Amino acid sequence: MKSITKQKPFDEVKQLIETFNRIYLIGCGTCATMTKTGGIDEVQAMKELLHDEGKLVTGWVVIPTACDEMTAEMIAENEKAVQDAQCIIVMACALGVQRVNSSWQKPVIPALDTLFVGLEEGPGEFFEACDQCGQCILGETAGICPLTACHKGLLNGPCGGTNNGKCEVDPEKDCAFTLIYERLKEQGRLDLMRKYHPPKNYQVMPRPRKTMVLPERGK
Ligand code: SF4
Ligand code: SF4
Repeated sequence: MKSITKQKPFDEVKQLIETFNRIYLIGCGTCATMTKTGGIDEVQAMKELLHDEGKLVTGWVVIPTACDEMTAEMIAENEKAVQDAQCIIVMACALGVQRVNSSWQKPVIPALDTLFVGLEEGPGEFFEACDQCGQCILGETAGICPLTACHKGLLNGPCGGTNNGKCEVDPEKDCAFTLIYERLKEQGRLDLMRKYHPPKNYQVMPRPRKTMVLPERGK
């Protein structure tokens, strides 16, 4: 599972840091490195761009996994350079941005847009596999998520626009329900195509969604 990001246009970042002259930079050694949006090379490129804009980069670090609890320790280890800065630019997904934000009081500026949680299909190729809806129906859709595979996010389909197995929104793409149909057919479970999936009840877990994994009894 990877958090898929793209870099914001530099003009947008520039606008966000308009009032700051001293900046600390943080990248992420996991997802943002894989997607080439916030690894060492991209952080160094950002440093150069900021320098060209007359900004002082007080320091930079690429945290192995910016969204985990190590982030607070890494910030503490680089405290002097971080304290010298007026803001931190984070080149990680929104989880990393929020993790940094919870470890530091000054402004935290995201340099990336977080697109989706994805699976890697091939080198550098990612696709959105799950919208984290909290009520998974993969067991009845042959393991293909209609929320993410269908352009309209339909739970019951196909829509009236499906054409020769292709999607009306993007004719290059297979209709999600064709994929589901073919897979169910292979599995001898075509009866599931007729099963109605009621609308998701997002009240089941109101936002912000939280959970706590309890320790096993007796340990
Ligand atoms: S139904 Fe789709 S979005 Fe919901 S949990 Fe399953 S895979 Fe994720
Ligand atoms: S054609 Fe299929 S994938 Fe495209 S929007 Fe309609 S149901 Fe969804």
